[in-house]
Amino acid sequence: MEPTSNPINSQHVAVIGAGAAGLITARELLREGHTVVVFEREKEVGGLWIYSPKTESDPLSLDPNRYIVHSSVYESLRTNVPRESMGVRDFPFLPRFDDVSRDPRRYPSHREVLAYLQDFAREFKIEDMVRFETEVVRVEPVHGKWRVRSEKSGDSSNDEIFEAVVVCSGHYTEPNVAHIPGINSWPGKQIHSHNYRVPGPFENEVVVVIGNFASGADISRDIAQVAKEVHIASRASESDTYKKLPVPHNNLWIHSEIDTAHEDGSIVFKNGKVVYADSIVYCTGYKYHFPFLETNGYMSIDENRIDPLYKHVFPPALAPGLSFIGLPAMGIQFVMFEIQSKWVAAVLAGRVKLPSQDKMIEDINSWYASLDALGLPKRYTHKLGKIQSEYLNWIAEECGCPLVEHWRNQQIVRGYERLVSQPETYRDEWDDNDLMEEAYKEFGRNKLIRFHPSHFLEPRG
Ligand code: FAD
Repeated sequence: MEPTSNPINSQHVAVIGAGAAGLITARELLREGHTVVVFEREKEVGGLWIYSPKTESDPLSLDPNRYIVHSSVYESLRTNVPRESMGVRDFPFLPRFDDVSRDPRRYPSHREVLAYLQDFAREFKIEDMVRFETEVVRVEPVHGKWRVRSEKSGDSSNDEIFEAVVVCSGHYTEPNVAHIPGINSWPGKQIHSHNYRVPGPFENEVVVVIGNFASGADISRDIAQVAKEVHIASRASESDTYKKLPVPHNNLWIHSEIDTAHEDGSIVFKNGKVVYADSIVYCTGYKYHFPFLETNGYMSIDENRIDPLYKHVFPPALAPGLSFIGLPAMGIQFVMFEIQSKWVAAVLAGRVKLPSQDKMIEDINSWYASLDALGLPKRYTHKLGKIQSEYLNWIAEECGCPLVEHWRNQQIVRGYERLVSQPETYRDEWDDNDLMEEAYKEFGRNKLIRFHPSHFLEPRG
């Protein structure tokens, strides 16, 4: 869609959250001439990347009255995408050899990501706009604007009116716990990966880890260093799957999914194998959750489908005053935040127009129909898989910003192939120096780096 020729409107915008999505969104809103207040309930920027050894009082996080810890990061976590493709496009995530406290690896630790986000906030002066330790407890439409109620720790609540609200509150805090037949009588310990930090508590135990994607693959190997045995239950595997994985301690097996759990401590897998386990770790993902949002029933979440949302960003009847950044799951998260938030900022400014409500609803329905045709359940609504770059490029064209680079897309594709084929080593042994070189050449052309790209071409362990 063509940008409109209307005069630019400056809007007063509330951003909820100062994680990566909120920081990037605040920058894009400012660039488009809006005034911005960022609400953040923690004491610092960084969101998910602020590691805390603390866990929740309920290890499965099912108790609605539990003490909530925001982050799901575990101590050993390293990024699962290379830093070149992870960083924001005009502020690349470069190794900082000038500072010995920094982690220069291509797939660095969670601490390095937090340090990068702190650098970003400093560079673009975002912290000045953030109200720390201030939780948004209610957001509701009032006469075409938005009332935001917030609570600063120790103080009473405060209501303010904004012309728009951008939700950047993250979606890796509310666990999804898989149901296992018979689990209520199973006597062992159960914990969701949201509350996993270190392997120590599993020493000498027999542990079942449910889920074998990014967190499941990492956590099972972390625990295998100290446990007696670790058994991964994988929904993606054939029902007769049973194999031993080549890990240093020779104690890790992969199975098909779990069939039943029993009072005597046994877990029966669909492949017929029986394991007497001490603990179950659920690496079964998270649920979208916006407890502060009141849309008078217009929006709903059903089986992790947030409905209705045009292009996973705008609820048609409430757009453009309400928008969401960062909902789809994909490999290049920060660049998605950048492109989505440029679109939101441009639409709020009146520089780019949205289609009519009817057209947006039509688009949403045709997306649902395409999922139905593929036999995919509702929980796949915001999983974009192979169409992620097509999705991002559609938005980029809409708001007139550069498309996603070839090397970035390819790094995600090839990185994913390595993750599947060599989960033990994919972060330290790679075969895409060509793509890395392309990335650093582009950073050089765009004057984003001052040194030769060959500095980065050696794999680092
Ligand atoms: P968050 O980082 O969760 O930030 C949300 C912020 O909103 C928080 O600071 C929170 O305190 C605040 N907030 C929430 N509710 C309120 C409220 N009511 N009032 C005020 N403040 C509020 N992505 C990658 O690109 N690379 C990786 O390697 C990678 N690894 C990951 C590993 C794990 C275990 C997980 C769970 C995710 C990983 N991701 C990774 C995805 C990651 O979620 C995104 O990269 C990104 O950091 C999410 O940013 P966000 O701003 O959307 O959410």
